[in-house]
Amino acid sequence: MTTIGHLINGEMINNDTRTQDVFNPATGEVTRKVALASKQTVEQAITAAEAAFPAWRNTPPIKRARVMFRFKELLEKNADKICQLIGQEHGKISHDAAGELQRGIENVEYACGAPELLKGEHSKNVGPNIDSWSEFQPLGVVAGITPFNFPAMVPMWMFPLAIVCGNTFILKPSERDPSSTLFIAQLLKEAGLPDGVMNVVNGDKEAVDTLLNDQRIKAVSFVGSTPIAEYIYATANANGKRCQALGGAKNHAIIMPDADMDNAVNQLLGAAFGSSGERCMALSVAVVVGDDAADTLIAKMTEGMKGLSVGDYSNANNDFGPVITSAHRDKVNGFIESAKEEGATVVVDGRNPEVAGFENGFFVGATLIDHVTQDMFSYQAEIFGPVLQVVRVKTMQEAMQLINDHEYGNGTCIFTRDGEAARYFSDNIQVGMVGINVPLPVPVAYHSFGGWKRSLFGDLHAYGPDGVRFYTKRKTITQRWPSSGVREGISFAFPS
Ligand code: NAD
Repeated sequence: MTTIGHLINGEMINNDTRTQDVFNPATGEVTRKVALASKQTVEQAITAAEAAFPAWRNTPPIKRARVMFRFKELLEKNADKICQLIGQEHGKISHDAAGELQRGIENVEYACGAPELLKGEHSKNVGPNIDSWSEFQPLGVVAGITPFNFPAMVPMWMFPLAIVCGNTFILKPSERDPSSTLFIAQLLKEAGLPDGVMNVVNGDKEAVDTLLNDQRIKAVSFVGSTPIAEYIYATANANGKRCQALGGAKNHAIIMPDADMDNAVNQLLGAAFGSSGERCMALSVAVVVGDDAADTLIAKMTEGMKGLSVGDYSNANNDFGPVITSAHRDKVNGFIESAKEEGATVVVDGRNPEVAGFENGFFVGATLIDHVTQDMFSYQAEIFGPVLQVVRVKTMQEAMQLINDHEYGNGTCIFTRDGEAARYFSDNIQVGMVGINVPLPVPVAYHSFGGWKRSLFGDLHAYGPDGVRFYTKRKTITQRWPSSGVREGISFAFPS
């Protein structure tokens, strides 16, 4: 059986003793093993990245960008293979994997603008014969730690921008589905990236803790669950590193009584159940204003859910695939049971679906739960499965209060035909990414991605303009070239 190793200094390395099984979640079979990097292996990667930094830092931004242009072409050329690797280990259907890859490529396209992004700021004549400018210098060796649910896209939120900004990079992908991430990183070499600029270490807590504690790592980008995000942020900060740590979510959609209900239902079906609900922007709660609207929504959702098919990634007719592990399937099933025990109504119960030919897969079917309330454990937690909970409220204010009270603040949206209500909602809701009749308001690559509250620890969001700021440090230079023969007098006053 293949053991997936690490990419260090342009070479595949595989001499760690610890390994972990990688599953095909649709069949339940172990298909590969992944090496779990020891402290020594991670240190080898850091040494390589540190050695590659001086030359890469001094490579003109236009030349760094040209690597990304070639990388983008290679990603497009190899799209089918990448989607297949994602499907085999994550389980997401090919159309969903293709969408993820495309959003990743858009971050590469943004990074191709490096010369423009790094132009800096200039002011002439800030004083007599004095000019001042700010430039954005790379940090050095930076690290990225990523989750299982977007093995192609989330790493590409990080390394293309970090690299074109002149940094060298160490990526620690999810150990549950590492193959597509590693394959993508290998394409960078073909695109002309010098060895050591991009390194991948597979592994678990030991690898992460080594990155967090090594003084040579200057910054850490993390995406994953909130408890780990909080740990990463605290540890990185304690060690003097810059850190952005994106965490979990519970994304609510408000359904106003005036909404186009058929449209809202179609949007909810995709946003709640697509990718088995394993998206940090998945809509997991529908907050419906008024009982009439709620009854209509429940009836239409129930009807719409009859047509959904769950199954293997390779059949493009399937709507979504399995969840990532058997343990996660049991956890999702446990949340459904807990909602029932706490008095909610399970309208459509997707537990233990029959998937012909894939009886041992980690499947959960689409599930709809009505009469969910704020005090329920399953409402407070991130379920991260194909489960839509419905909370009934009387007013829009009540709906917004519910969202503002929740510990997470990643994404949210409102379905309405009322512009005034939509504007009030987007102005006042305590959430980082807001949709108006848009269920998954994932910002495009030239904006930045990030939640509020316990969905993000740190000041700067991921990718886009905030990404450039995160991966560079500002230096401001003030310069005077006195005219020949002119002597400046002594002054003890503060320069003004
Ligand atoms: P996770 O937190 O279990 O793992 C994320 C990364 O942290 C992995 O690389 C993993 O190896 C590492 N890790 C896990 N436990 C660790 C520990 N104890 N110490 C150090 N490192 C550790 O997350 P996951 O299950 O892979 O991904 C799903 C979660 O990610 C969900 O909560 C989802 O909402 C979140 N997510 C958030 C965003 C966002 O942008 N906010 C995007 C995608 C996923």
